[in-house]
Amino acid sequence: MLDTGQEQFLCGGSTVAELAGEIDIATTEETYELLVSLLDDGCVIVDLSAVEFIDASGVNALVKAAREASLAHRHLTLAAPPRQLSRILDVLALHQILPTHPDVDTARSIHSRLQQGRGGHYIPPQVV
Ligand SMILES: [Zn+2]
Repeated sequence: MLDTGQEQFLCGGSTVAELAGEIDIATTEETYELLVSLLDDGCVIVDLSAVEFIDASGVNALVKAAREASLAHRHLTLAAPPRQLSRILDVLALHQILPTHPDVDTARSIHSRLQQGRGGHYIPPQVV
């Protein structure tokens, strides 16, 4: 019998969203919709290893999706961002909002460790 009260986080498994190619004004809305729809199923790890380019509107879509995630008590983390994106995240100090991990495996293992722990719904940022 689990009675965790109202502080329970909805942290059930994680889905990997693989993004690829260019994320710019043409694909931003689509990307955002995809991420938000995946949040219905659980936490989301965004695999960026195949992304070649991301512009400011793409970054904005990730930030918006992260905001939705925290409202829904889900984790949204980034894995394997291209160097260009890492630099943008650094410059804009977005690592707090968008925790970033060097690859999907790392993101997944940190996430499952969090699920086993109680309390906090927060993945500490890592410098990639
Ligand atoms: Zn989670």
